[in-house]
Amino acid sequence: MSREERKWNNRFIAYMNMIANHPNYKGLPIQKKKDGSLSWIATAKSKVGEERIKWCLKKADELGFPHRAGVYADVMLAIHPTKWKVCQTCGRLMSLYYHYPNANFVKALNKDFHADFTDCDHIADIWDTLIESGVKKRVLAKYLINKGGLELDPDDASKEEIIDALELVCRKGNKKLLGPGAMSNFPDRYDGFHTYNRCCRSSQDKGCSKENLKSYTKDRRAYEYWSDGNIHAANQFMGSSFFDGISADHIGPISLGFIHDPRYLQPMSGGDNSAKRDRLQIEDIEKIIETYNRTKVYPMSWYSKLIWEHIFSTYKSHSGIAVTVCRDALKQNMANFMFILWTILEDCPAYGEDFLEQKLLAQHYDCFNYSYEFNSNGEIISQQPRHFTDRNQNEAERYKRIAINSVYDYNDKNNRNTNSHLNRDELKDLSSLCKELNSSHDYDECYKRLVMLVEKIERRLISSL
Ligand SMILES: [Zn+2]
Repeated sequence: MSREERKWNNRFIAYMNMIANHPNYKGLPIQKKKDGSLSWIATAKSKVGEERIKWCLKKADELGFPHRAGVYADVMLAIHPTKWKVCQTCGRLMSLYYHYPNANFVKALNKDFHADFTDCDHIADIWDTLIESGVKKRVLAKYLINKGGLELDPDDASKEEIIDALELVCRKGNKKLLGPGAMSNFPDRYDGFHTYNRCCRSSQDKGCSKENLKSYTKDRRAYEYWSDGNIHAANQFMGSSFFDGISADHIGPISLGFIHDPRYLQPMSGGDNSAKRDRLQIEDIEKIIETYNRTKVYPMSWYSKLIWEHIFSTYKSHSGIAVTVCRDALKQNMANFMFILWTILEDCPAYGEDFLEQKLLAQHYDCFNYSYEFNSNGEIISQQPRHFTDRNQNEAERYKRIAINSVYDYNDKNNRNTNSHLNRDELKDLSSLCKELNSSHDYDECYKRLVMLVEKIERRLISSL
């Protein structure tokens, strides 16, 4: 089967339609196949290919780009409306800028910072992860400035300035530290970029190594688990001087559904964050209850609330082993929740993503508009509106991107550690929810059904405890 005949991801099909109908591409030739779908691919020698080249060079003149090597790539990047591209194979979204470390740079980063990044981790995410794990901003700034030979001052330059400068010397200069989320490929591909992204490059080109997906996004785990809580305040508290040189630890693991919130963060003793990561012990439960009584901030994300209520009311009569069983139920519930999200995205290509954004993610956007101050318990003692509105918006967009991407990550068969399990009745409810979303687009009704389905699954898990 040739590359063109592989089943294309539904999210990619929606992406193709978005691009082909976008005014930035007005006049760029594309044909339709007999079944009405878009002929995305055309070779340079074909008539369509030649016309695409003519169109692109005219666009270059409008933009003031000289006709030299790399001009197609420059034009297609400049006109791309979002600068983020969906992967045809797996549905992940990746940046079209040179934002991902190449193999040698990953090796150097992991060695120099004892980290575990892959060549699919975005450089901004790498930055945040290192800062959160206790690396000083100045040290990291100096490191990247040296690597890129940048003319910036590590004390003054912001994260954005350093990343922008590094990106530029890799894209237009001779530095090979960073590469793009998708290589340029014009006129062969309508948008000018390879259909598959960096994430699926190896499986398409060199057999089936999924090595680069193993820990595709380790950071921003709270975004990945669709955690509730004041997520921006939590990020800010993690990066504050309270955690200088020590990594922050969630008292209730977010991989089990607990919230991402400054009040539920503590300094990690011993520095072994990965060992604790998704364990749950009696002491943790007691600490969570103490925090809740003190702050009245609910400790669990909505989708695991019933299971938490059960643990809360019964843990005293439980032995240690029974707590482990509860932990497994939370883990199973998370796998089921991720499967539900994935099914909605896959089966409702037109409305699924917007529905999940409006009903689950958008409520968290507002927290990015404030800057917080804390006491040493992570309680918020004051908050001020932030003025850098562009950046706040970028952070909310990034939150959404990571949250949606992680649903695809979680459901990547090669990546999965807990299998989802819905019984026949629950699968029926899920499929009728998707049908409802596709036909009526009634977000309120679908949200009601989603909550009912999640609670039904929780009650089944509780009954088996
Ligand atoms: Zn991919």
